[in-house]
Amino acid sequence: ATPTARRVDRIQPSPSTAAAQRVRELKADGHEILDLTVGEPDFDTPEHIKLAAIEAIDRGETKYTPVNGTPELREAIAAKLAQRHGAHYSHARIAVGGGAKQVIFLALMATVDTGDEVIVPAPYWVSYPDMVLANDGTPVVVECGEDNGFKLTAQQLESAITARTRWLILNAPSNPTGAAYTEAELRSLADVLLAHPHVRVLTDEIYDEIWYGTGLAPTLVGVEPRLQDRVLVTNGVSKTYAMTGWRIGYGAGPADLIGAINKLQSQISSCPSSVSQAAAVAALTGKQDFIAEMVETYRGRRDELLRALDGVPGISCTTPQGGFYLFVNCTGLLGRRTPQGAEISTDEEFCRYLLESQQVAVIHGAAYGSPGHFRISFATSNAVLREAAARVARACAELS
Ligand code: PLP
Repeated sequence: ATPTARRVDRIQPSPSTAAAQRVRELKADGHEILDLTVGEPDFDTPEHIKLAAIEAIDRGETKYTPVNGTPELREAIAAKLAQRHGAHYSHARIAVGGGAKQVIFLALMATVDTGDEVIVPAPYWVSYPDMVLANDGTPVVVECGEDNGFKLTAQQLESAITARTRWLILNAPSNPTGAAYTEAELRSLADVLLAHPHVRVLTDEIYDEIWYGTGLAPTLVGVEPRLQDRVLVTNGVSKTYAMTGWRIGYGAGPADLIGAINKLQSQISSCPSSVSQAAAVAALTGKQDFIAEMVETYRGRRDELLRALDGVPGISCTTPQGGFYLFVNCTGLLGRRTPQGAEISTDEEFCRYLLESQQVAVIHGAAYGSPGHFRISFATSNAVLREAAARVARACAELS
């Protein structure tokens, strides 16, 4: 018998964390790696946010806070939710945790019993299936075709729902594809959901402001307010405000669920960091103009990367509508041989070849439930991206 519990044996360490670790090791060995695995903004946390944290420390805000966050932070979150979804959330319907990741985990822990099913559209963020498994649930992975922009259709949703379905997890803009649902697409999903009142929806909206479309990205609650009591909106400050290390995320949903999340949190971490909460208040209520600048920078990189990879034999890209990742189809390369004569038969083998022959690190699509692809993060400088794109093109051209 292993010394660990079955729930630990069932799950994998996060593949993105593992990839980052591999890059660190190679760098430590003296290799110069172009790292396109990064899942966080390359911008610094804005000055006024850092200052707010320092001021909070100076005021002595260094103690436990309420389990569900300070009233100031919940107020700031409620204001953002009202603007984003056109919906009112009282303080009792908002939970604050150590990152959206913790809130999502706690939501599953609070609701999933052995054998309960959670619908996870693929390509998915690497953590969802393992979080479900860690909480004794069964992930029901639904493959979403590239021909439909990697998005779940109403029909697919209808056929995936069973009497045991607890949740549908909907992440838009998506990591890894950048796909987002139109209002009409959300409407058709909402119609299916209205017919199955036992299913709740966890919307992961962490990339909502890193958005290349016009206006705001549509949301499920915005499109169908009758679902408000069945949706847990999750979001945080990590990506929008370049605050990944501060670890503040939140969930907004039905009061019973939020109460259960808070009950668990009271036994797990007592509360999120007081100093980070003060910083998050400044982030949400302070000036927002740098977000648009940041998004324009990402957009420029996205477009340049798409141009550089356009026409490279064996690969093709779908234009991301949000987020800072490009999910590249590499099925055209499978079956080809490296200059050393090794056959590339999977996306993982291509990624290893890319790392070893060109020192470019990306993450293979199978990690996201979508073999035949790889993910490039463009949260890095234009110079690195330009060089990396040239090397990807060279790696592809050298296959025969
Ligand atoms: N959800 C998605 C889709 C993500 O890509 C990430 C971070 O990579 C998270 C949630 C976690 O965000 P947080 O830093 O708030 O835990």
